[in-house]
Amino acid sequence: MRLAARFLPSVLTCLVVTAPAFAQAPVTYRVSFPAPEHHYAQIEVMFPNVPAGTLETRMSRSSPGRYAVHEYSKNVFELQAFDGKGKALATTRPSPYQWDVAGHDGTVRIVYKIYGDYVDGTYLGIDPTHAHLNMPATLLWARGFDSRSVRITFDAPKSPSWVVATQLFPTDDRWTFTAPNLQYLMDSPTELSAQTTRSFKVRGPDGKEVTIRVAIHHDAGDAEINEYVTGAEKIVREQGAVFGEFPDFEPGYYTFLGDYVPWGGGDGMEHRNSTVVAAAVSLRTPGMVADVLDTVSHEFFHAWNVERIRPKTLEPFNFEQANISGELWLAEGFTQYYGDLIMARTGLSKRDEAAAGLARAAISVINSPGRQFRSAVQMSQMAPFTDAASAIDKTNLSITFTSYYTYGSAIAIALDLSLRDRSNGKISLDDYMQAMWRVHGKPGGPQPGLVEKPYTLADARARLAEVCGDRAFTDEFFDKYVEGREVADYARLLLRAGYVLRKRSPGAAWLGPANLVGSNGTIQNLLPWGSPAFDAGLDQGDVIVDVDGKAMASGVLQAAIKSRKPGDRLRVTYKRRGGATETATITLKEDPSLEAVTVESAGGTLTPAQHAFREAWLGPKSKP
Ligand SMILES: [Zn+2]
Repeated sequence: MRLAARFLPSVLTCLVVTAPAFAQAPVTYRVSFPAPEHHYAQIEVMFPNVPAGTLETRMSRSSPGRYAVHEYSKNVFELQAFDGKGKALATTRPSPYQWDVAGHDGTVRIVYKIYGDYVDGTYLGIDPTHAHLNMPATLLWARGFDSRSVRITFDAPKSPSWVVATQLFPTDDRWTFTAPNLQYLMDSPTELSAQTTRSFKVRGPDGKEVTIRVAIHHDAGDAEINEYVTGAEKIVREQGAVFGEFPDFEPGYYTFLGDYVPWGGGDGMEHRNSTVVAAAVSLRTPGMVADVLDTVSHEFFHAWNVERIRPKTLEPFNFEQANISGELWLAEGFTQYYGDLIMARTGLSKRDEAAAGLARAAISVINSPGRQFRSAVQMSQMAPFTDAASAIDKTNLSITFTSYYTYGSAIAIALDLSLRDRSNGKISLDDYMQAMWRVHGKPGGPQPGLVEKPYTLADARARLAEVCGDRAFTDEFFDKYVEGREVADYARLLLRAGYVLRKRSPGAAWLGPANLVGSNGTIQNLLPWGSPAFDAGLDQGDVIVDVDGKAMASGVLQAAIKSRKPGDRLRVTYKRRGGATETATITLKEDPSLEAVTVESAGGTLTPAQHAFREAWLGPKSKP
């Protein structure tokens, strides 16, 4: 609580108070990679015009778009501090993330080394082929300097073929860049490598043209890069049609920072004017370019949704602790939905397969055991514990948590189809996204990196009421499906587009998850609350030794279930932790598994109305 409270004013005061001239002197960084084979960077940071007293310097604990704590200070070593005359200064460690420097003369220079060998959107990765920098994982900063501008210089690397790709602002020197403030600096991942750079221009529906750069570190050939760039261009164009216009990309362009090398890592991480899209693959592998474009689609949508249409819970981003947001179902889930939808609209994925994929999100939420315990808002608030967070104790998240990506995607499909259904095709989720953009994204901020009109849950509700003109529908939708734990009538909504949502195994008996027991009869996973086996008192670790008088062996349990109907009973004997042998009577239920198929493949005929609905939903919107 204290950290958050002190973080906020330092940003806000800089917006309303005219800072004295000396306060504008930039913080400068010098970054070099003296021995990339040893995976470390040498960093020198100079803080000028330091107010009297102790300077509190910090490594971030979190990174924009990554919602768990990652403790980047663990990789820092050989840290030393100096004053403006080069005199060494002592540092103290009031916390694991902080180095305090006292006794300075108004200038503090800190030099340190930092290790990193992990390429993705969160960490630092250095090797002889590239240096891939996520800034919170790399750069130390100081409290109270949030609004200072920054100048960062990379020492020319050993390999003469390396170039820099970043959303940082360029200068006359190709190795030196600037950022207007700490938020923008931390939001600016940077790749140095012998990468391929391409660029293209796309005209938005409003007639304004944007420049998109694609900088890819890869081991493929021209044909694969051409395919990638062509696909990216289709995605960019089609997403422009959703919002009606592109954002103003502040350095004058948006950059895809692609890292597709087999020794890399898999990730997609959005930023304001760029994204890291990485996969530990070779683009030479047949079909691989098509596979990775899915992430390109998701991340570019974030250029509007999250980077500019930003929940208030993430503005400004707090680098001192995990950020908690109840709106990730919208920020991430709607982006997930559109990422997939745009792949269908561009023709990069097959329409019916895309629809089935979107329906799968709905199915997994309908059947999610976690929905008994948490709404979409509450699932979003679990991100600090689930977004690549790690600890070694056991949790029951497998049965109490559903990803806000999936949950939000399911809400998006429900809302999109509902809006189309209610308005006979005149209003869609695209209109809602445009309304969110007009009110919360487009106004921008006082400086690149800051968002002036972030939204609250109440704002998200208000925009929907405006778009559909029906407060009662809006309140019911939010109360039930966003803040409540109910699910929409997906079967009815999907049928409007000619897709049938049906039981996968109607009439089949079911006692719990399909892979309930291992070969030795041990229940391998936590059982969902409300599943027949759970209700009978069984749980993870119990070893089933007998099923209705038959000794447990491979296939015995499955055969017993198969021979019964929902409502029938099954008696099992099991051994439990502590050595006790017990029996349980399981009352079987009907298998709840669902599937979505086309009306045509279900033996029906697609009506002209269904065809038109499907076209309007999944067909292209952009003009070439
Ligand atoms: Zn995302």
